[in-house]
Parts: sequence; C-alpha cells; structure tokens
Amino acid sequence: MNQSSVLIVGSVAYDDLEMPSGTFENVVGGAATYASIAASLFCPVRLVGVIGEDFPNVVIDDLVKRGVDTAGLERAKGKTFRWRGRYSKDLTSRETLDTQLNVFADFRPKIPEAFKSSPYVLLGNIHPALQLEVLAQIHKPKLVVADTMNFWITGEPKLLGEVMKKVDLLVINDEEARELTGIHNLVKAAQDIRKRGPSRLIVKRGEHGALYFDDAGTFYAPAYPLEDVVDPTGAGDSFAGGLMGYITRLDSLEHPAMRKAIYFGSALGSFCVEGIGPRRLLEVTQGDLKKRIEQFLSLVETGGPVGLPL
Ligand code: AMP
Repeated sequence: MNQSSVLIVGSVAYDDLEMPSGTFENVVGGAATYASIAASLFCPVRLVGVIGEDFPNVVIDDLVKRGVDTAGLERAKGKTFRWRGRYSKDLTSRETLDTQLNVFADFRPKIPEAFKSSPYVLLGNIHPALQLEVLAQIHKPKLVVADTMNFWITGEPKLLGEVMKKVDLLVINDEEARELTGIHNLVKAAQDIRKRGPSRLIVKRGEHGALYFDDAGTFYAPAYPLEDVVDPTGAGDSFAGGLMGYITRLDSLEHPAMRKAIYFGSALGSFCVEGIGPRRLLEVTQGDLKKRIEQFLSLVETGGPVGLPL
C-alpha cells in the first residue's frame, strides 16, 4: 500500500528572535518549515511556499533528505519573508516587532499537478486569500486543516470566515478562539466556531495543553511539563505538523485517531521549544518520540480504575 502524503502550505521564513538569553538573527523559520519538519517524522510531505534569493540551498537539501518534496517551493526574486519577535522574560508571551512580507507580498500559490490529489492538507498560517487559492486548486481531500493567528483574525475577518466554511478542522490558540468569537468561555466559543464551518476544532492552550471538539465529544490532552523552555517559536506549527503527519500515516479520521494525533502534535510542540528555532526539532528520533509519548501518557495514568473509596 502506498503511504499517503500530506500537503503543507505556509510561510518559510527568516526569523530574528529577541530572547531573554540573547538575540538570535537569521534563524530559519516559518510555519510551513516547522510543520514540514514535524510531519516528516510520520509520512511524506509536499511543501508549498515561497523563498527569496537569499535562502540557503542547504536547508532545502536537508528537508528533501527528510522526505519533503519541495517541488512546490518557489524561489522568487527578492528577499525571504522575515519576522522579528521579542519574548517576555518568562517566555509565555511575545510581541511581533516586525513582519516583512518580501517575496510573500506577490506570492500566488501554484500547486504542482502531482500534489493536487493529496488526501491530507494543512493550510499553515498565511493570508486567508492564499489559503482560499490553495483550496480552489486541490481535489477533494479527506481532511483539510487550517491554522491561523490574530493577525488575520483582526485583519481579514471576512476572508477568514470564507476559509472556515471550507475547512474540516481549525487549529487555533485560546486567545484566538476568544478573539474570533468574542466569547470568553472556551466551550461556548468552540460551539460558535464549529457552527461557522469546521466540524472539528482544536484549541491550543500553550503550557496548559489542548482541547479537541468534534461530534463525538470533547477531549483534553496535557502539555508536557518541561524544565527548560528555550524558544517557543514554531511550537504551534510543530503541533499542527505532528498532528497532521500522524493522521496521514494512520489514514483515519475516527475520534480515537484524532485523540492520539493530539498527543503526537503535543510531543512535537514540546521538542520544538527545547532549542532555538527548529534546531531541536530537526534532531528528534523515533526513539525520542516514543519516549516522550510514554512520558505524556504517564502524566495522566492513575495506576488503576478511578472510583470513589466506598
Ligand atoms: P508559531 O510560534 O507557531 O506561532 O510560529 C512562528 C512562525 O510563524 C515563525 O517562524 C514566523 O516566521 C511565522 N510567522 C509569523 N508571523 C507570520 C505571518 N503573519 N504570516 C505567516 N507566518 C508568520
């Protein structure tokens, strides 16, 4: 049987990161980069995005070695997308200092013919107009997952509404869910979002784990309590990439498969934050992954049935 592939669309970037420990410039980043690295641990990846003339071939070669098909990664005249962020002392919040769209400004995604029938599609965090352009080019996938951020929720609410009507699963964080709906309670916000299109929803809550909502009910997975968080950049994208990679590998959309996929997404997010940029993520082995999942499961393992002491 042929292994299914996942199509991942999103930003490929240079990031400048102002961390409490120092400033790191020209770090390779971008939503699609993190998601592709994470997903490639499970299945073949088809990457669609744009880079400028300044982006190094060696990074692309490394992605190819991991099973990422870069036929949809366009090299355009000009500079690669650049994002600069500053993190708070405790790394729990960040401020965007600068977003330079560069080659992204004129980017029109062209999905290679061979990618159009990909069964699983991850629309990474890019302009909702581009997400719609991608959807218009592909043939009826089994699952379309979309990620977005406050930048688009406030900047392009109408187009984002159109995207939501066409996606099966939306992945956002708690702040974004509240911003999108104007509802503070996450259960009520989730109901509201699911009425707008996506039958499935994941609300990421950073160090507090993730909630999943679908017709079969609600599920909660904890975040792995890490001792040393180095750089949270890309954690959300690694979560989405890991989740999609696992679903693609399993080729199942059943509720239990989604539950497990959330554990794998969380595991990839937890590795991501252990290094600057995608450094740690790139080193993750199947053994590391297995161990982290066991650690995750033991977090909620009670050692026996939970009953009242009658
Ligand atoms: P995350 O930490 O998961 O939210 O993702 C961080 C990545 O998103 C960084 O590597 C940035 O290059 C990328 N990024 C930041 N802002 C944008 C934007 N407006 N559009 C697309 N990608 C972005």
